[in-house]
Amino acid sequence: MAPDRRRTGAAVSVDPPTAPAGDIPDRYDSAAVEKRWYPLWEERGYFRADSAAKGKPYSISMPPPNVTGSLHWGHALTMTLQDTLTRMKRMDGFNTLWLPGTDHASIAVHVILERMLAAEGKTKEDLGRDGYLARAWQWKEESGGTIVRQLRRLGASCDWSRERFTMDAGLSRAVRESFVRLWEEGLIYRDDYIINWCPSCQTVLSDIEVEREERDDEFVYIKYGPVTLGTVRPETKLGDTGLAVHPKDKRYKHLVGKTLEIPSVDGTITVKVVADEAVDPKFGTGVIKVTPGHDPVDFEIGRRHNLPIKTVIGFDGRMTAEAGRYAGMDRFECRRRIVEDMKALGLIEKIEPYRHAVGICYRSKTVVEPLVSKQWYVQVKPLAEAAIKAVRERRITIFPRSWTKTYYHWMENIRPWCISRQLWWGHRIPAWHCDADGSVHVSKEDLHACPKCGGALRQDPDTLDTWFSSGLWPFSTLGWPDDTADLRTYYPTSVLVTGPDILFFWVARMAMLGIHFMKDVPFRDVYLHAIVRDAEGQKMSKSKGNVADPIVVMEKYGTDAFRFTLAALAQGRDIRISEERIEGYRNFANKIWNASRLVLSNLSGFDPALAKKTPPALADVWIESRLAATVAQARTALKKYRFSDAASALYQFLWHEFCDWYLEIAKLSLYHAENPGQRARTQATLVRVLETTLRLLHPFMPFITEEIWQRLPHKGDSIMRAPYPRVSKKDRNPPAERQMTAVMDLVTAVRNIRGEMRIAPAASLAATLRPAPDAGDLFSANGALIDALARVRLTIDPAATRPRSSAMAVIGGSELYVDLTGVVDLAAERQRIQKEIAKAAERVEFLRGKLSKPDFAERAPAEIVARERERLVEQEALHAKLVGSLGWVDDGER
Ligand SMILES: [Zn+2]
Ligand SMILES: [Zn+2]
Repeated sequence: MAPDRRRTGAAVSVDPPTAPAGDIPDRYDSAAVEKRWYPLWEERGYFRADSAAKGKPYSISMPPPNVTGSLHWGHALTMTLQDTLTRMKRMDGFNTLWLPGTDHASIAVHVILERMLAAEGKTKEDLGRDGYLARAWQWKEESGGTIVRQLRRLGASCDWSRERFTMDAGLSRAVRESFVRLWEEGLIYRDDYIINWCPSCQTVLSDIEVEREERDDEFVYIKYGPVTLGTVRPETKLGDTGLAVHPKDKRYKHLVGKTLEIPSVDGTITVKVVADEAVDPKFGTGVIKVTPGHDPVDFEIGRRHNLPIKTVIGFDGRMTAEAGRYAGMDRFECRRRIVEDMKALGLIEKIEPYRHAVGICYRSKTVVEPLVSKQWYVQVKPLAEAAIKAVRERRITIFPRSWTKTYYHWMENIRPWCISRQLWWGHRIPAWHCDADGSVHVSKEDLHACPKCGGALRQDPDTLDTWFSSGLWPFSTLGWPDDTADLRTYYPTSVLVTGPDILFFWVARMAMLGIHFMKDVPFRDVYLHAIVRDAEGQKMSKSKGNVADPIVVMEKYGTDAFRFTLAALAQGRDIRISEERIEGYRNFANKIWNASRLVLSNLSGFDPALAKKTPPALADVWIESRLAATVAQARTALKKYRFSDAASALYQFLWHEFCDWYLEIAKLSLYHAENPGQRARTQATLVRVLETTLRLLHPFMPFITEEIWQRLPHKGDSIMRAPYPRVSKKDRNPPAERQMTAVMDLVTAVRNIRGEMRIAPAASLAATLRPAPDAGDLFSANGALIDALARVRLTIDPAATRPRSSAMAVIGGSELYVDLTGVVDLAAERQRIQKEIAKAAERVEFLRGKLSKPDFAERAPAEIVARERERLVEQEALHAKLVGSLGWVDDGER
């Protein structure tokens, strides 16, 4: 019956407690306990990994939070789950590494510095590149460590001695190495291409950095020579160089191939008519204007048909000289003006309201402007193919499986990855331009003279997309490109834990770059957890004001309760957080504390040898078997990243089986037993079960478990380093579980009758049991226990028949009759029940009537109809039950 006997020895070999009984405070003071243990764990080096240590490696790369960040709910969830896995595997004997770090977050830092400089009335150009970078580093040193401190507060057991920053020397070297290799392999190239430009951040954005927002605009139908066409962006008309129709559209066949001179607001414009499959003949008039300089689809059409590119909107979001008399005007102002001007010229056929998705910058929320410019790209197609294959061949497994499809879809449709950014904070592109001969040189070392002509060089001004360096994270943090012991031991990492919103930013890029450079996957498993939302299902966002600060919540309810809530809700697509839930789990923490106090204050005089000699009672065997079941459940669930299932198994066991039942039973022998053997036996079971359960719970609730465990008889210096409970099938005892369930059902039946008949809990009852043929021995053997728990004097009589004035319950095949004579006022009780029967009947009738009205069933919202149906079922059941109870109070006088 002893889980992990292998490692802790026999159940009763525990030593007497080291602390005197009653030493444990009445109230659990989470703040004091948390403050005490974390620094101790860290100082003693418990978090530290050692590549030379024994044990199978288990490693997690913490997805680095932005250095600008402070802990939000998403971080709290992801870090709690990573810590839970890390602590569990560490206890389980693995050579465990959880490697932390932060990301330099180019755009986020840019936004912060821009604001700071604006307050000083300066621009980044005033500071110059070097001055600006000095300010950025200064900001990072002074304000960049917030999240790292907060992770400690959360109990994160990561190896801080290996903490990395994406711009530290080692990682910068890895970035250069990988850039140069990809360049040499022809996978990095420069190209004129249409990019997403943020006029306010002044940088290019990758496709996934562009958010879509529904907006109301005007759809303007413009008379365009021989045709009419519709557009939401009339200002780009100035950049038109073509008109496109579908090749099969008969309406416009005669125009294809012609060059038209179209009268417009500023003289005429010249457009060529082309036929292209990309045109939807059913949309608008079936003709689109082609503006290759300002639209990604048009850009592609333009390339296919050799249309010239005319840039009329500049990088500052204003109209360029090419825009003629609109030059210098803001792009949106120009839109209004051009519509007015066209109206005046009679060029507008009609204007319709139009709702559509507009691309906006994920940082500044500025409308993104598609613009053509020369940028650096990674040809990701071949990398993506290898990353798809890795998932197909299950070298990487994505949990939950449903995300696999999303991953394939994105990877299969991947476009070249634009990696250059026009920001200063970041990894500068290791490329040098010679203005004399136009050559470009990419190098790991800084270049000072042109290798071709010996002339002066200028380093490329751009930096790399932040995700370029984070894509290398799982191996760059372990020392790559050097062949280090860490890299050999901890790569591939075991699992990547993150939110699904980061599947493409992160998971996909790490998979591509990891496989390419390491010739092996960066992680074996990917676990995508739920997105945290508020109680109403809204995503937590500062602008919505629905965000409680996780740190404040931790302080209020305790970190353990906070962590347990997150783990308990982690499964599924959304987590709905509310304070009530966290409060519920704080009650759970208090329950554990109080149960432990009860155990600790009853260990005086504990004699392990005597316990060993005493055979266990049914309840002792049962609780051990239930513990074994819980250990197995928790392990199975954690293996599949089913954190909620594991948390729920632990909660059910601790609260309902251990506290509600076993502790109540234990009190009987602790307080009343004249049998010292049984008392010792109970003490041994209490200690063993509690100690094992604490170890099982530790990865979820690290602080309270350590605090209590230290006060219990234990081996070792910290619960963090104690073995994670392990069980085998033989630790279960199904017959004992069945028997104990029957006993508990009987006790519950008496308690229910007490409740229904409103009999005081303290009043002793007399009852007769007619046992099922095979149950008599079980109930008589446990008669004293049943009597004590149910406050009943139970007579077991296989020949009993139901007496008058008795309440009845059926448990399995056994019948229980509780004598009500003299306990309840039968006449009054009969009256009360009859009244309630009448009320229930009335409600049943009302609900039936309501539901049968076609008006209601058809028109009311489905969930209201469903709720009323449920109420009807409830009321019908109540009615039937009351009719049954009426029989109990029959004294035969009617
Ligand atoms: Zn922006
Ligand atoms: Zn040169």
